[in-house]
Amino acid sequence: MPADRSRPPRRPSRVAGFVVVAVLLGLAGWIAADLRPPEPLAVDAPAEQFSAGRAFAHVEEIATGVRVPGSAATDRVVDDLVDTLSALGLDTRVQNAVGAVRTASGETRMARVQNVVGVLPGADSTGRIFLTAHHDSVETGPGAADDAAGVAAVLESVRALTAGPLLRNDVVVVLTDAEEACSCGAEAFVDSHPLAAAGGVVLNLEARGTRGPPIMFETSSGNAGLAEAYAAAAPHPVATSFAVEVYRAMPNFTDFSVFLADGGFTGLNTAFIDGAAGYHTPQDVPERLDRGSLQAMGDNALATARALGNADLTALARPEADDATYFPVLGELVRYPGRLVWPVAGGALAAVALLVLVVARRGISSLRRTIVGTLLAAVPLVLAPLAAQGTWLLLVAIRPGYGQLLDPWRPGWFRLACVAVVATVVLTWFALLRRRVGAVPLVVGGLVWLAALAGVLAAVAPGGSYLAAWPALAGALTGLLAAATPSRVVRLLAALVGGAVAVAVLAPTVVLFLPALGLSSAAAPAAVAALLLVALLPALDLLFPDETEHRPRAVAAVPAAVLGLAVACTGAGLAVDRFDATHPVPSRLAYVLDAGTGQASWVSTEGSPGDWTAGYVGSRFELPVDYPYLGGDVWSGRAEAADLAPADVETVSDTLVGGRRELTVRVTPQRSGVRVVVLDLRVDGGTVVGARIGGRAVPEEELGGDRVWIVFHAPPEDGLQASVSLEGGGAAELRVIDVSDGLAGLPGFEPRPDGVDAAGAHSTDVVLVAGTTPLG
Ligand SMILES: [Zn+2]
Repeated sequence: MPADRSRPPRRPSRVAGFVVVAVLLGLAGWIAADLRPPEPLAVDAPAEQFSAGRAFAHVEEIATGVRVPGSAATDRVVDDLVDTLSALGLDTRVQNAVGAVRTASGETRMARVQNVVGVLPGADSTGRIFLTAHHDSVETGPGAADDAAGVAAVLESVRALTAGPLLRNDVVVVLTDAEEACSCGAEAFVDSHPLAAAGGVVLNLEARGTRGPPIMFETSSGNAGLAEAYAAAAPHPVATSFAVEVYRAMPNFTDFSVFLADGGFTGLNTAFIDGAAGYHTPQDVPERLDRGSLQAMGDNALATARALGNADLTALARPEADDATYFPVLGELVRYPGRLVWPVAGGALAAVALLVLVVARRGISSLRRTIVGTLLAAVPLVLAPLAAQGTWLLLVAIRPGYGQLLDPWRPGWFRLACVAVVATVVLTWFALLRRRVGAVPLVVGGLVWLAALAGVLAAVAPGGSYLAAWPALAGALTGLLAAATPSRVVRLLAALVGGAVAVAVLAPTVVLFLPALGLSSAAAPAAVAALLLVALLPALDLLFPDETEHRPRAVAAVPAAVLGLAVACTGAGLAVDRFDATHPVPSRLAYVLDAGTGQASWVSTEGSPGDWTAGYVGSRFELPVDYPYLGGDVWSGRAEAADLAPADVETVSDTLVGGRRELTVRVTPQRSGVRVVVLDLRVDGGTVVGARIGGRAVPEEELGGDRVWIVFHAPPEDGLQASVSLEGGGAAELRVIDVSDGLAGLPGFEPRPDGVDAAGAHSTDVVLVAGTTPLG
């Protein structure tokens, strides 16, 4: 063997290094661009295709204003939806029902709902496909994206389906009510609609923003077959099994959760999530909706419905043993069965272990130095997310309105800045240590962390293991190649190939995770970006002068350049993203009146009140009695009592039956526009053993104590009837809080100035009036 065996491989020129890094940056840019939604098709697109132009006409018809359950706007939209589906030949009915849901926080919410349900029968059905979206909006905005866009995508998809050959399976369209209130429409459908009884495959369309690629982010468990069907069918598949893991760990709740909780359904949940600043706000108007997002969502829904519509649904409508791993790579979904997660992670661990041994044997980095490098490689992985989060805190300090936002209105420059901050941390760390510790121990140390993370994720969140496993495996194998030969070309190629794999696997997650969590939670996407940069160290090392040369300026220039980029991007972001009438600062203000004491308050749930809100509230404390949406510490200020009557409580009957007190009351709001009634019933020392409200039994979990708290949406105009069975105890009292929308006309209220608007929250722009009635 030649004598130079133990020498480190010769170093390629820095120019070649710049070329390699430029190619990798170009690849990352291509990947980011490729994730963008397609151009929307016009209204005259071929009949069998999905046209965002045609769908957008539905959005404009639906999203003319707020559509809360029980409202006149909802009645109108429900009629229109029935007409549209009926005209397409679907047998379409309105399901009038009361839904009841227990939230993750243990609150019982109920709503009187109107679901629109239409059936397109199949030629030889093996099961049912449910196309679902919600037609209601939040009370704070018209919900053009959330979820008029989903409804429109369903309508236009069904139109395209009816323009083509008959499908094999039944397609059931379910346009639900009251998703924003409590997912009570979906609950009522699943609970009592005959078409739900046999279950099936649900394709749910949602939005958590106004633009961006629709992401298939949530699945039923055992998703292998459905993920495969989706990947094969969807023309713009943006999906990652990592999102499924993240979502399963979060307390979020949509209609899809209700279908899954039932146990009889499998399915896929899709949403576009960028443009979160407009989410649930008055700014979620049709003009803000990205028609490309609508096109992509519709294209995917239509193609998936066609594929599943002609498949044998027997197996797909049941959970399988396996969750698939899948992720986007340049317009395709790479996917493999969950049983391969451990072999891939194990392969990464084995390859990195082999690399550690080979560099030690070849004298490139001793075992001890590799251990030191590994310990030091933890530093940027911890510091980079902190630096990214710190950058956001700095932005909030500069522009306090950001404190109310999940993500800025125009986050583009800030996202680049976030990645540049991560790169600054990684490159500064590398620049400081590479001469002292050596580049190879640091590079290998980074791979050790990636491989270890692949193993940990394989155990706790298998759908996310790929993120660390493939970059570690590619980094280790190309590292072995580079260590095996002194060839500069091979070393360049190794850095290029290992880096390209890391970019292909991790860059889409950085690009999708930034809008998913928003810059207000920049630490999480920054952690993924830090993993990517650590995986890119073999390529980034080529930007630096040879380790043996003492050229501190050339070394410092690399992180300094990236720091300059971070500062420039931050400055550009601040210049571009200013608050104005259509990009307002969100604010939260509610009005609370206790009719018993005549005391009124302004209340805000803002973390630290903005200028406008501070004009109403000045002190922070917990409200002395419970109000919906205003739990915990809030900001409050004294308000003038308005002439607002509390709901009337009339005892309909009060009898003793077999030792139980059976009590029926009718609660009738006395002011117009009451959207929600909260019933807070207490019985001194007794037990509430049963309750029916609005004709629907209250969930058992609410019962068994001396108090029930039920939030009921869309109470009937002639009053809400509530019957309770009480065991033991003495006096009972019913506190009723009724909720209406809009603060205009209240004494002392001044409308917001331009550039300030209502936040997308249940706790703002509501009037709550409480009254207590003793019940015998
Ligand atoms: Zn929604």
